[in-house]
Amino acid sequence: MDKLALPAYDLLPETQAFLKQGTLKMLIGGDWVEAQSGETIDVFDPATGEKIAEVAAGGAEEIDLAVQAARKAFENPSWSRMSPTERGKLMWKLADLLEENAALFQELEVLDNGMTIAAARMAMFPFCSDMIRYYAGWPTKITGQTLPTDPLRYGLEKEALTYTLREPVGVVGTITPWNYPLGMLTMKLGPALATGCTLVMKPAELTPMTAVLLGRLIQQAGFPEGVVNIVSGKGETAGAALAAHDGIDKIAFTGSTEVGKIIVKAATGNLKKVSLELGGKSPFIVFPDAILEEVIPATIRASYFLQGQNCMAATRLFAHEDIYDRFVDGVSQLVKQFVVGPGMNPDSTMGPLISSEQRNRVMDFVESGKQEGAELVVGGSKIDGPGYFIEPTLFSCPTDELRIVRNEIFGPVICVERFGNDDLDELAKRVNNTMYGLSGSVWTQNLSVAHRMARRIDAGQVGINCHAPLDVTHPFGGNKQSGWGREFGEEALDMYLKTKSITAVT
Ligand code: NAD
Repeated sequence: MDKLALPAYDLLPETQAFLKQGTLKMLIGGDWVEAQSGETIDVFDPATGEKIAEVAAGGAEEIDLAVQAARKAFENPSWSRMSPTERGKLMWKLADLLEENAALFQELEVLDNGMTIAAARMAMFPFCSDMIRYYAGWPTKITGQTLPTDPLRYGLEKEALTYTLREPVGVVGTITPWNYPLGMLTMKLGPALATGCTLVMKPAELTPMTAVLLGRLIQQAGFPEGVVNIVSGKGETAGAALAAHDGIDKIAFTGSTEVGKIIVKAATGNLKKVSLELGGKSPFIVFPDAILEEVIPATIRASYFLQGQNCMAATRLFAHEDIYDRFVDGVSQLVKQFVVGPGMNPDSTMGPLISSEQRNRVMDFVESGKQEGAELVVGGSKIDGPGYFIEPTLFSCPTDELRIVRNEIFGPVICVERFGNDDLDELAKRVNNTMYGLSGSVWTQNLSVAHRMARRIDAGQVGINCHAPLDVTHPFGGNKQSGWGREFGEEALDMYLKTKSITAVT
């Protein structure tokens, strides 16, 4: 391993120790292993561009071993016959361990992903531990039904009884993105463990560190070996092998719509179940009676959180013409106040983008906005120096057809557009004129308008005077090309269960 450049931040001793331990390994069948090929993936701090760690680069061989280990664990009575109460207790223990290690998780996430330490503190805990605790309550409550059965319909003279069993779907493969790494893992782990599934988890290659720590805590909590396997690796190798593997019963994917379509094709071999959480281009609609003193700061959070690398980000702001100038002026004043810098610096309010490729991609969109006639209100430039920083940017857009309005940019580049008439159906046509349908929000004091508009937005989640209010109990997911299925809450359990109907003639 090359000499690592430990960043000159004031890091916790645990974080320093984590970064100094050499190649981070994969968890397969209860053992920590390196890749058979000996290959590794370098991990970079996006705030400095420097290598801070390296992780084993798993491929098809490791995926195969992990799937075998997960199948063995699925069939092993130590897991398959574990009482629901015991399963819930293990999960609760894991949630406690996550919380005990919150500060370490947060620092690792900042170094890996670039989010600010304030964002990590706000977004990771208790959300990630609450997710596991919420699902820890479910194993004892997953039940079937008894159903009316007419024996004569089947020509039977005897009595009959039909009931359903809700059984775990089997071995689950998870593939997750880099923008909120630990959160993405826990929202799949919770329902999968609660239903009695076993897992092979492939975290994003750009942000693998918190997955390794999670694996250690899963072992510490006492889960039987092989119940959770963690294979770090690239998408086109490890991810592709997992999506295509015939030993996987279900893939739970979060990532881009483009890769989501590849996953669906790869899953056709054994017709495994697939759930998808994909991209977004969410609307944020401000009516003329909205309280701008509240809406403007809320816009900043809704649009620029995680540097705009957020699937639910409010990236299409629709402001009524009566308040348009005041709204744009107020938002731009706050955008100018962002302190852009390394996430570990407590003064930073916006960190770097995840990688130099992502910064180039985002800057291409900024250039296209300028060329296609959008008015640059604030920002619009790269920030030179080490790290992948750009200025938070706001465009005022004259039409809905610009590339920056139509595409998910996944960076701090936000479009504001004007609307004028009061016909909600007309406005809804514009708002829904996108292939995405993940989130959205309506800002007004008029509750009649709020509820009528909320119904008209074609998205899995709509906020009224709030944007993307995530809660572990609320179903979350996308319409149209934003995904298949719902995570969080009771509804997520359906994606990890299969129903068996049993009829008995007595
Ligand atoms: P991505 O699609 O590039 O990668 C996501 C995961 O897929 C990674 O683990 C990657 O290694 C893997 N992957 C890549 N190519 C693969 C292949 N050919 N086969 C199998 N796996 C493959 O996405 P990203 O850049 O990591 O994340 C950003 C995207 O994720 C954005 O589009 C964002 O909207 C979306 N996202 C959606 C949600 C949601 O809940 N809807 C949440 C967060 C992010």
